Parts: sequence; C-alpha cells; structure tokens
Amino acid sequence: MLFEEVAYYYEKLESVSSRLAMIDIMAEALGKADKKEMRPLIYMTQGLLGPPFEGIQMGIAEKFAQQAIASATGFTKEEVAANAKKTGDLGNTAEELTRKTKLKRMSSKKHNVLSVYETLLKIASTSGQGSQEAKIRSAVALLTAASPLEARYLIRLALGKLRLGAGDATILEALSKMSTGERSARAELENAYNICSDLGKVGEVLAESGIKGVERIKVSLFNPIRPALAERLPTANEILEKMHGKCAVESKYDGLRAQVHLDKGKKKVEIFSRNLEKLTPMLPEIAKAALSEVRAERAIIEGEAIAYNEETGEFRPFQETIQRKRKHGIDELSVSMPLHLFAFDLMFLDGEDYLGKPYHERRAKLESLIKGGKTILPSGRVIVDKPKELDKYFEEQIADGLEGIVAKELNSPYVAGARKFSWIKLKRSYRGELSDTVDLVIVGYYLGRGARAEFQFGGLLAAVYNNKKDDFETVTRIGTGFSEEQMRNFKKILDKIKKPGKPARVDSIVTPDFWVEPTYVVTVRADEITKSPMHTCGRDGGDTGYALRFPRIVSDGVREDKSPDDATTTKEIIEMYGMQKRIKVEDK
Ligand code: ATP
Repeated sequence: MLFEEVAYYYEKLESVSSRLAMIDIMAEALGKADKKEMRPLIYMTQGLLGPPFEGIQMGIAEKFAQQAIASATGFTKEEVAANAKKTGDLGNTAEELTRKTKLKRMSSKKHNVLSVYETLLKIASTSGQGSQEAKIRSAVALLTAASPLEARYLIRLALGKLRLGAGDATILEALSKMSTGERSARAELENAYNICSDLGKVGEVLAESGIKGVERIKVSLFNPIRPALAERLPTANEILEKMHGKCAVESKYDGLRAQVHLDKGKKKVEIFSRNLEKLTPMLPEIAKAALSEVRAERAIIEGEAIAYNEETGEFRPFQETIQRKRKHGIDELSVSMPLHLFAFDLMFLDGEDYLGKPYHERRAKLESLIKGGKTILPSGRVIVDKPKELDKYFEEQIADGLEGIVAKELNSPYVAGARKFSWIKLKRSYRGELSDTVDLVIVGYYLGRGARAEFQFGGLLAAVYNNKKDDFETVTRIGTGFSEEQMRNFKKILDKIKKPGKPARVDSIVTPDFWVEPTYVVTVRADEITKSPMHTCGRDGGDTGYALRFPRIVSDGVREDKSPDDATTTKEIIEMYGMQKRIKVEDK
C-alpha cells in the first residue's frame, strides 16, 4: 500500500467528525493493507510505532524537524520557523513548503507503508553521539520523496503528533467492518485486545486468520493484560445480593496497580501499571522479590504496590507511594520507603492461561505461589455471607488507613479490560454525603480573569469517557480550588496540546476559551451529581445531561497512571447518580 493512499485517508479522517464516518473511512483504509502492512498501518494510525506498552518514543524534536524541512525544501531555517509560527503546526508547514519547494525533485520513488514505518522506527531508535544528524538525514530522505500531503503526515508522525482522534474502540470497529462488513464483531476483537493490549497484533491476526484466529489469541508473557475493573455499590446488602449471597472481600489498597510478568529462566521481570506503562525501573524491590519469592518459573500476577511499614503494620498514603513515579532517587527510596506488593490475582502460570479459571481457584493457587514471602504478600481477605460481616471487615480496613474493600465473586473468571459486577468496590466516600471521586479528561481550559489574569488560567472544562460511543462528553467546569502552582502547571502543559477547534471525539455544547486534545486525566471530587442542560454526559439525544456540582481537583496534578480512555465513564456517572439518590433516601 502506498503511503500516498494512507495520507489520502488520513486527510479524509481529519475532515469528518462523526464516528461512523471515521469507522467507514478507516475500514476502507485498513482493507487496502496486505497482511504484512496491517500492524505498521494500525500503529501509525494510532500515532505510534508499536503497542503503547512498548513505550517507543518518536525520536525527533521540533527544532530538528524544522531543519529537515529546510534541507528537503531549500527554504532557510528561519523561513521554516516563520512559516511554522504562522501555521501553528509543523505538519502544515512541511506540506506548504513542499508544495513551494525551491529544489528540483530528484526522486521519483514512492513511499509505501512498510518503508515509511521502518524509517520512522529507525529515527526513533537511533541514539547516542551524532544521532540527531542521523535522524535529520533520515527525515530529509523521507521528505524529499514525499508529496505535500505525505509531508504533512510524515512530519506529524515523526513528531509523535498525528492525533487523528481515533480511539481504540473506533479502530476495533473499523477492523470489524473491514473483515465482516459489520461493526458487530467488535466484541470478539475487543476480547482479544483486552488480553494482548496490542491492536497491531489483533489486526495482523485478523488479516492472517480471520475472526476465528483472533478468538484464539491467548495470554502471553510480557504482553500486558488490560486490567479487570470494579463496579460500585453503596451498601453491603446490595453487594451481597449482587454476589448471590456469598463473596470474597479483599482490602482495597491505595497504591499503584502493578501487573508483574516473570520468567525465571530468562531472569526477566516486567511490571506494568494500570494503563500498561512499564513500571519496572521504578519498583526494583518488587522486581527482585518476584524472582526470589514467587514459586513459579513463568507467571503473571497482579497486585497493588504500596508503601508499608512492616514493623508497625502501617500503610502509607498514596502520595508517598506515587513518589516512585519519578526518575531519580529510586534506589534510595527503595531502601528508605520500600514498597510491598499486595497480590490479588493470578493470570498465567507456567504456560497455562488462568483468566478463565474461577476466582477461588486463581486465588488459592496465587497464595500457594507466594506463601512465606516478605515483599510480595497476599492481599487481606475474608469470605462473607452476611452484610454484617462485610461491614465489619470494611470498618477494620478504614481503621487501618485503607481505602475500603473490593468484593469479588467466587466463581467468576478474570474479565480483562472490563468493569463488571464480579468485582465491586466500596469506599468510605460512598457512605457519607459525597459520592466517590471521579477521573475526568481535560478537554479545554478557560482564561483567568480578575486576580487570575496573571496566570492566564481560570479553570478546566472536563469530560467523562463514553465507551459505547468512544467519545468524551463534558460533565463539569472546574473553576475553583487551584493553587498558584497548579494554575501555572496546567497552563504550561495544556498550551502544548491546544487545538484551534473542538477536537475530534469531544462532544460538548459549551465552548471553553481554548480546546485541548483529550490527553490528561485529573481526579475530581464533587458535592453532587445533578441533571443539567449544559453538559453532554449521558444526554443521549435528549436535552439534559449530567453534571457535577462544586467540583474540585484532588489529584496533585494530572493522573499519570490513567489515559483518557481510563477516565470515569458516562455509565458510571449515571450509576453513581442512582446510588446517590438511594443513599439520600436511606439517610432520611
Ligand atoms: P480507584 O480510583 O477507585 O482505584 P480504578 O478506576 O483505578 O479506581 P477500579 O477497578 O475501579 O480501578 O478499582 C479497583 C482498583 O483498586 C484497582 O485498579 C486496583 O488498583 C485497586 N486495588 C487495591 N486493592 C485491590 C484488591 N484487593 N483487588 C483489586 N483491586 C485492588
């Protein structure tokens, strides 16, 4: 498939805002790729060069991309910089200057998907002395054989700024449409994706062996599994009812979710976060303990890593655990404040996929593997069949400084990537007046007025994720409770992702001063969820949606462990609204 065609489809994708139109265009584009091209094409369409968990960074900085455009078009660096200032997008600059090129085009060679992908990969992986020059040379080679439209997308890709606005769910539906003509095979494709977290792999298997092949995708070591998630219910009664009268109740630790992949023979451990980033360098004591304490050759176990004082039995607050997510001083921290892993699940053991086995069996096996460990311990838990017992365990957890409990259905499989009632969380906050905190995606921001003018920041427009529609629906404007440092920080990071108009996949009837690409997630507490004509959350064609009343940010800044698609969903907001009403009735 020629890259020319890819660029044509990318331009078409950019020009539509309806998701169905996006799916159709993407399905047509994917249908043009052959088996070998499928993976690269999917990664590039995601704006990546591999699955996100590989963490391959597009390796060219703006400045060097400008140099490459200058060399490829014959304009001076100053002219390129001036044009970039005018267009506000180096991709558009590359397009415009390629059209007006001052150089005679020597090459008649045409790019194809594989050649572009390989060159971009080379640019990304070149490092060390003289690497910038080498990267620029590769970028120049790409540009000199590119049409103006190709240049637009090549530069955006090389900068890691493609941003076509297609989420995972949209790509899955496009794959479904491509292979079956319908969007309905999304469920099978999504299952496979939840198991391997790699859309490129799903697409490749689909192209090679059809839906049947995709259904055979199994858990594999060092391919993270998309985490199972918990639903919420406000009372022990409701939880037990949902669990058919009996369930396990585990302590809910407020730390970092960690999925540990272990291969002893290769002495290899990889730890993935909740949103599947590699955490291994940040958790050296847990990686070490995985090799020495887990009685298995190859395994995938999941747990919560948390700062814990063994001598006093005291759990430390989230803010202390999260300090690990920095680049320096980790070795010192691992001694002064070692983390423990409270393991709660087992997904793979010595070649066997455990996802389909019932919870009680996975748990029993997990306990036998980690028995007697010092750093890796089983999460606390009891089995209950009376609301009173559940409440008692819950109160004990709160007294111990934990967040609450997660109830687990004894016979259910591990449901990767989905929020299901086989896990139900109960936190202290559901029981008081306030509902739980929610995680929202920033889609825009406001300019400061009055005393805030100096920060040029006056608040955020925030949205929830609608996983059915794969878009972001606004739910609140957050205007208060920011520290000066937070205002400065938000302004700085949001300026970099400003968009001239409403970004693709954002559904909003209010307009902020600036739109931003949905990128960052913040944790927000509010007094109440109310019905509102202002916001699109849960509107579903009607006039009223849901909104948060008196929202304020409770995360330090943005949540680095959550991507936009991990934000609280529309469905959860509607459920929380229902819970809130039930609590109010009970309180009376
Ligand atoms: P939250 O912000 O409430 O942690 P979440 O969206 O990150 O929510 P949920 O699946 O809704 O994730 O809630 C369960 C979370 O609680 C897990 O992601 C995990 O990090 C954490 N956790 C702590 N202890 C346990 C446990 N024993 N079993 C399962 N999850 C646990």
